[in-house]
Amino acid sequence: MKEVYEKPVILKLKTGMMNKFGSSPAYARKVRKDIDGVPVEELIEEFGSPLFVFSEKKLRQKFREVKNAFTLRYPNVEFSWSYKTNYLDAICAVLHQEGETAEVVSEFEYEKARRLGVPGNQIIYNGPYKPYDSLVTAVKERARINIDHFEEIADLEKVADELGVKPRVGIRLNMDTGIHPQWSRFGFNLESGQALDAVKRIASGGKLELVGLHCHIGTFILDPHAYEVEVKKMVDFAYTVEDQFGFKIEYLDIGGGFPSKNRLKGIYLPPEVAVPSVDEFAERVCSALLSSLRPGDYPKLILESGRAIVDEAGYLITTVHAAKRLPSGLKAYVLDAGVNILFTAFWYKFNIEIDREVHGTSEPCVLYGPLCMNIDVVDDLTYLPPLPRGTRLILSPVGAYNVTQWMQFIRYRPAVALIGENGEVDLIREAEDLTDIVRREKLPERLKLEW
Ligand SMILES: *Cc1c(COP(=O)(O)O)cnc(C)c1O
Repeated sequence: MKEVYEKPVILKLKTGMMNKFGSSPAYARKVRKDIDGVPVEELIEEFGSPLFVFSEKKLRQKFREVKNAFTLRYPNVEFSWSYKTNYLDAICAVLHQEGETAEVVSEFEYEKARRLGVPGNQIIYNGPYKPYDSLVTAVKERARINIDHFEEIADLEKVADELGVKPRVGIRLNMDTGIHPQWSRFGFNLESGQALDAVKRIASGGKLELVGLHCHIGTFILDPHAYEVEVKKMVDFAYTVEDQFGFKIEYLDIGGGFPSKNRLKGIYLPPEVAVPSVDEFAERVCSALLSSLRPGDYPKLILESGRAIVDEAGYLITTVHAAKRLPSGLKAYVLDAGVNILFTAFWYKFNIEIDREVHGTSEPCVLYGPLCMNIDVVDDLTYLPPLPRGTRLILSPVGAYNVTQWMQFIRYRPAVALIGENGEVDLIREAEDLTDIVRREKLPERLKLEW
């Protein structure tokens, strides 16, 4: 095929805040006609636009990358899938097939994991709000519960009395790992002595068996050193607990937070440079562990990595609905997908690919979504050739958090498709329609309209 001639352009360099790397290299137009060999147009014809598409191949590949990095360096590792990052059944099922347990942060997620067939003892129950009844269920089903606050200690002691058992529990810690702002709202603070107080409280109650420590230091952490600090502090604390209270700590759960290869707004380096490799994280974590553990002691290391595993496996295909010229002279496009279904647009500058060769000069433009809201901006400045109505844009990575944090505001949520390893395409979530939205509404008899 003949390549399309692209007229050279000179763009005025707007330096903005000075930085030695120049502007983001988003000038090159990138064409993508398929995802894992399945034509973009075929996907849209079958499922409509916009459409989330997940690559099973990429998902398994990312998981195995993380798994290998850690299991090669430490003999006792468990991976637990962070449901809130993406709790579509099909996505969870792929990761459970790969050997991940389930990490849930709410009663709803707990129920969803159980419904999918995950046994209770393969569930880690975190989160600051665990209703009493859900704790009863979790204790009965032998889920791993990581306690968030003193009230939860009391709740669990009550459950222990009610069921006549001694639940095995973990506590959530928060600590200074050099990451700012520090996440201090989950669990008990280490440096202030609060965490030790929690252990004292559990020991004096005598109704719970403390067997684990948990800590989730943040998300999209770009500094592997923070995990090194986290692990050392956790090991030190584990031995303090063992020596002073006789509780044997069987697992150290270091949470999630590893970054994906996405481009954070305001970070100029491309993700390939700015984001450390999984091996770097694994090396820091495992060598910190091995150097601080006592000889012969290999407690279970648990990882709850979400974003780093699923983000790059997700794409969003969206369609250009209209083009505009703003009073400022800036070109603008209206797309059929906005922040209603792309919550992460607030933090990321996505890769933007076009489904076809387009003639004409690239120019700066802004991408708007379909909402009647000023904040509905998918990209506030990118460079694209003149896109005719109907052009498909493929945005990525979008696999983390969007299909859980999406909202229904003024539009239906779109379909989600999964491309299997052999190119088979499955619908894993139907597009919504009016019945989904009105199903729970009740109109009082006296308000029935007789138009
Ligand atoms: C959200 C969350 C995770 C996953 O975080 P990522 O940044 O997506 O890896 C893991 N553990 C807990 C407790 C969480 O709240």
